[in-house]
Amino acid sequence: MTANKKLLILPGDGIGPEVMREVRRVIDWLGRRRMVSFDVSDDHVGGSAIDTYGTPITDATMEKAKAADAILFGSVGGPKWDRLGFDLRPELAILRLRKELDLFANLRPAIVLDPLVEASTLKADVVRGLDLMIVRESTGGVYFGEPRGVEALPDGQKRGFDTESYTTGEIERVCRVGFELARNRHSRVCSVEKANVMQSGMFWRQTVTELREREFADVELTHMYADNCAMQLVRNPRQFDVIVTSNLFGDLLSDLASMLTGSLGMLPSATLGAVQPSGKRYALYEPIHGSAPDIAGKGVANPLGQLLSFAMLLRYSFRMEEDAGLIEKACVNVLKNGLRTADIMAPGSARVGTGVMGESILRELDKLAA
Ligand code: NAD
Repeated sequence: MTANKKLLILPGDGIGPEVMREVRRVIDWLGRRRMVSFDVSDDHVGGSAIDTYGTPITDATMEKAKAADAILFGSVGGPKWDRLGFDLRPELAILRLRKELDLFANLRPAIVLDPLVEASTLKADVVRGLDLMIVRESTGGVYFGEPRGVEALPDGQKRGFDTESYTTGEIERVCRVGFELARNRHSRVCSVEKANVMQSGMFWRQTVTELREREFADVELTHMYADNCAMQLVRNPRQFDVIVTSNLFGDLLSDLASMLTGSLGMLPSATLGAVQPSGKRYALYEPIHGSAPDIAGKGVANPLGQLLSFAMLLRYSFRMEEDAGLIEKACVNVLKNGLRTADIMAPGSARVGTGVMGESILRELDKLAA
């Protein structure tokens, strides 16, 4: 049994540690049944790091993050830390990780699992079998572009402004992630911008087109305006395979796409950096939900988003496709068996807590691996 892959676990606050406990049980299971183990370390982050170390993330934790092959993040924040100043917000931990590891590509899958097809607010016929991936640029664009600010005008008014800006390199690196993902899916990328009204959008379109011609001629590339994409996601979301877009449009479209699937507690995400010359790529995986202070400590949180984030980590960072698939299949089977946490409860199903959901996943894994 080898343990050469370095995994850093940062459970965080609220339900973070509760759902992460279920991932640890799956990691133990992988060791017992699949003879794979990892070099696991963990640490405080967010509010729990403020309580322990006086800061949302320490330099030592950042060093561990840089040394790790992949980071599994829970969630941070909660009312306990809300009254602390702007510089001590638990959320700064995730911002620092993204910035210092240059995690520029945010991957948000929107998958409708068959047993949960009724959980979507859209008709089952529209979302059944949905499996799309949104790749959002997450370190550039209008959220970071300069100049930005609020200035006084001579006529006594004020003017607030931000700048949407993307360089060739920024566009190419995030689109490359999209094309590479598409190659392992259905080989279709839809690039989304507003080339009709924005110079930066026109430049995005031209850059992605040239990149495709140069490096990804085998992948189909289409272009769509962001407003149309929002409509198409609701009208016929299954037309998409991989969507690649900027920070601002990705922010909106990925939240829209998540809701097609019906539940926050189910959804994983990944944020990737560039492939370094050594072949290593920084990567952080986390469920899209927050620390859910309203249910923390009650043992009712849905652990599937965290477990599916771990499955993504196995697939994309550790190339353990088979093990990732087993975990995903176990999650689907447990739902098929009618088990539900409160957030995805449906008539006729059995309501279970976090621990029972986790145990049921292990039982399914046992069956699948038999
Ligand atoms: P939230 O995602 O924590 O909760 C929204 C609602 O969904 C709540 O009713 C919650 O109970 C429910 N929910 C979320 N995850 C669930 C799960 N796994 N199982 C069952 N129900 C679940 O969002 P919020 O309430 O807006 O934020 C709470 C705190 O989390 C805030 O401090 C916020 O800043 C923080 N937050 C952190 C992250 C992160 O760490 N990446 C992301 C979002 C929010």
